[in-house]
Amino acid sequence: MTVMVPSRTPALITPGRQALDSALHQLDQAAEHLRLDAGLRTMLATPRRSLTVSVPVRREDGHMDVVQGFRVQHNVSRGPAKGGLRFHPSTDIHEVTALAMWMTWKCALVGIPYGGAKGGVAVDPTELTQRELERVTRRYVNEILPMIGPEKDIPAPDVGTDEQTMAWIMDTYSVNTGYSVPGVVTGKPLTLGGSLGRTGSTSRGVQIAAMCALGRSPEGVTVAVQGFGKVGAPAAQYLSDAGCTVVAVSDATGAVYAPGGLDIADLRAWAAESGGVSGYRHADALDHAELFELDVDVLVPAALEGAITAENAPRIRARLIVEGANGPTTPEADEILAAGGTIVVPDILANAGGVIVSYLEWVQNMQAYSWSGGEVELKLRELMEGAYAEVRSLATARDLTLRQAAHVIGVGRVAEAHQMRGLYP
Ligand code: NAD
Repeated sequence: MTVMVPSRTPALITPGRQALDSALHQLDQAAEHLRLDAGLRTMLATPRRSLTVSVPVRREDGHMDVVQGFRVQHNVSRGPAKGGLRFHPSTDIHEVTALAMWMTWKCALVGIPYGGAKGGVAVDPTELTQRELERVTRRYVNEILPMIGPEKDIPAPDVGTDEQTMAWIMDTYSVNTGYSVPGVVTGKPLTLGGSLGRTGSTSRGVQIAAMCALGRSPEGVTVAVQGFGKVGAPAAQYLSDAGCTVVAVSDATGAVYAPGGLDIADLRAWAAESGGVSGYRHADALDHAELFELDVDVLVPAALEGAITAENAPRIRARLIVEGANGPTTPEADEILAAGGTIVVPDILANAGGVIVSYLEWVQNMQAYSWSGGEVELKLRELMEGAYAEVRSLATARDLTLRQAAHVIGVGRVAEAHQMRGLYP
């Protein structure tokens, strides 16, 4: 039996710890602006529930591995906890806590009645067979079973998971409950109660946010996208369909660049067939780092946290950054970008399209009813544009960055909910 546990080096600052430090820094800034008292600040900085589990998994050759899994409910003052499930080898409790905290502010910012949660399993899904993935998913769900439920905590896809993962979660939960409970997860296949418009909803929201921030016709607007997965690839597609010229994209396999514009549909077909964008013959190869330095109008980070740091921020030439990923920009990089006049549409606003349509899926499940794709798209657009206008207006009125304004609104609403509910007992 092999036991896979994270490094025990106490001094090691993991990417997850850095993400949590960023999230806490952003909370601190907002709390300062809102003049929240110390007790409330501590409450907002502390997750409500955190669970670490060991997930034993039988591999195809018969041996057993044990991987770590996590579920964190950061805050439930405004409704059930909501947040994605990530399968990634370097995920840890700090990263999952940071992602759960961002979910809390995001849901409050766009005005949907959820708190924030996140889950993670420290595995590389590309190294597992489908059957191994199914076993990991089902065992992980079984371990966190008391925490989740349609009125308690509702997982959704994130890095390394997809609608098949959600179907396994729904099935495992339903079998344990004794009847079908579609509302326990969102981002499900349509046939199990998924919503029209959920696939691609995060990316549609990124495109809407980008258009709001551009404030002009997309004709002639050049774009580079880091990450070509569930968020990055459709975002590149929607931006291209809207009239922008997507000149570069990257994924874990490499980066490609075509100054005249990439044919995104063709590139997606290539990536699906060959396992990544690398080697695409209608574009030049680029280093990962070079993508960030291109002279483009819009940069969309849509991979992982900590992509834009104090090291590469000074070389970024994009006028606008629209954060498809969660936590792609460190606080130090934020300061450099703000000083240089780069506008950053922050993650908790720019990528909120996914949780908005997840909410719409859950509402449909709870009513055993379904809406048309057009109705879903209309509601998504309304909530995204409304949230953008609110953030923009507060940022202008109080001389804040869009990130600071978004956090002031999100944190402020959660703080208000705590104050109205009072402290039990
Ligand atoms: P995914 O697993 O579908 O895709 C991730 C992509 O990033 C892949 O193309 C991968 O190859 C690429 N990548 C990884 N390392 C890279 C690197 N160093 N350089 C360039 N590309 C790299 O994940 P996703 O669901 O698209 O999530 C991406 C980000 O968006 C995450 O931060 C996630 O939390 C956030 N997000 C996702 C959703 C959603 O609905 N899936 C919603 C909101 C936010």
